[in-house]
Amino acid sequence: MNEDIIVAIATSRLEAAISMIRVSGPDCIAFVQKFFTGKIIEKPSHTINYGYIIDDGKRIDEVLVNIYRGTRTFTGEEMVEINCHGGVYITSRVLEVCIKNGARMAERGEFSKRAFLNGRIDLSQAEAISDIITAKNSYATDLALKGISGSISGFIEDLKEDLIQIITQIEVNIDYPEYDDVEELTASSLLPRSANLLTKMNKILDDSKNIKLVKEGIKTVIIGRPNVGKSSLLNALLREDKAIVTNIAGTTRDIVEGSISIDGVVLNMIDTAGIRETEDIVEQIGVDRAKEYAEKADLILFVVDASSPLDDNDYEILKIIRGKQAIVLLNKSDLDMIVSKNMIQTLYNESNLAKKENKEMQEIPIIEVSAKKNHGIDEFETVLKDMFFAGNLSFNDEIYITNIRHKTALQDAYHALSRVNDSIDAGMPEDFYSIDLLDAYESLGSITGETIGEDLVNEIFSKFCMGK
Ligand code: GDP
Repeated sequence: MNEDIIVAIATSRLEAAISMIRVSGPDCIAFVQKFFTGKIIEKPSHTINYGYIIDDGKRIDEVLVNIYRGTRTFTGEEMVEINCHGGVYITSRVLEVCIKNGARMAERGEFSKRAFLNGRIDLSQAEAISDIITAKNSYATDLALKGISGSISGFIEDLKEDLIQIITQIEVNIDYPEYDDVEELTASSLLPRSANLLTKMNKILDDSKNIKLVKEGIKTVIIGRPNVGKSSLLNALLREDKAIVTNIAGTTRDIVEGSISIDGVVLNMIDTAGIRETEDIVEQIGVDRAKEYAEKADLILFVVDASSPLDDNDYEILKIIRGKQAIVLLNKSDLDMIVSKNMIQTLYNESNLAKKENKEMQEIPIIEVSAKKNHGIDEFETVLKDMFFAGNLSFNDEIYITNIRHKTALQDAYHALSRVNDSIDAGMPEDFYSIDLLDAYESLGSITGETIGEDLVNEIFSKFCMGK
């Protein structure tokens, strides 16, 4: 149990109607009573109480104070929330009074850390709380909510349970070979069990592959020859009612110049400035940009002018984007079209043959659009969702690993367990692989925080918001 009382402003430090100051620690209701005029000492838990915050007998602010007794609180210890007026000055005055009376300023994430240390939530749930605060769209929010409700924890606990059974059985076999009533775990009976665990881990890692793109957005670049309609198309996407433009700086090394949310799928547009270059001698620019971005973008939108003949540049670009996540937008479909989907697909296949790597037909999504008339945008959305999320963006019952720390730990567990299978295949004795089994167990335990050191716990919580 923690001895001291911590305090922090839980709301944002901007002028607002109301601010909330959070207090947590043993006997913190009695502590707040020292400088609050409402009578809270005798009041039942989970009540809202009216009064004034006072300092040296002087009224500071008129507030509502929520009290939470016992251990059924967010932190697992007694808590008070002071709702004061939301001015920047008045909020810090109330905070100051708390500190003057002996509370300590909370560190970042310290409320959540106490909740974790008091066993109210596990580490993966605490991290999901942090995720919901930083969520940028409804899908990231849904995923974080699942994490808070313990979906990851449940999955990890099941895996750990299976592992511990195997580990115990091996230990018993080694330590007490004379025990007849414990079934001997032979290589042939262990292999399917660990293979089954590996399959489960692999599935969740695989399902979660594109989750980063849901949470953070798809790094997208628009390329194509000058005048094919790249900026018109960008504007058309931005003009859509459902498109929201925000500036989220610093999410990637590249400068994200705006994010378009298309029915929940967030496209982070990079280097849109390049689109507006207007020099005449930029024929090559589409090709150069394609080369540069084929490597770093998650998605390439290749715009072709359907009303003018294709040229070498288009052919070059098709070669470059081969095998990458790309969509061809056949723009200006409102005019007489002299370029067809078939022509693009044929060229694309020829570019494949030219590389002599893959003689099979490879389909590239090609969509007829008109930036001018706003045609084809719906089809574009559908293709986009199919491409990244197999058409499914609902995330109903599946479990996803959304946190990079969890993913790394799960991968570590997977590799340790793979080593077990290798040892079995190589005919190694049982005691040889129990160490790898323990490694796998430990990696899984680090996700929920069971097998994790204090330093790492501190580091994780230090990334949380103040007052969280
Ligand atoms: P960029 O150089 O690739 O960015 O091309 P722009 O977006 O500047 O467009 C070049 C020209 O094509 C402009 O005059 C646009 O009005 C015109 N344009 C763009 N999209 C369409 C379209 O879908 N239909 C028609 N008819 N014209 C278009």
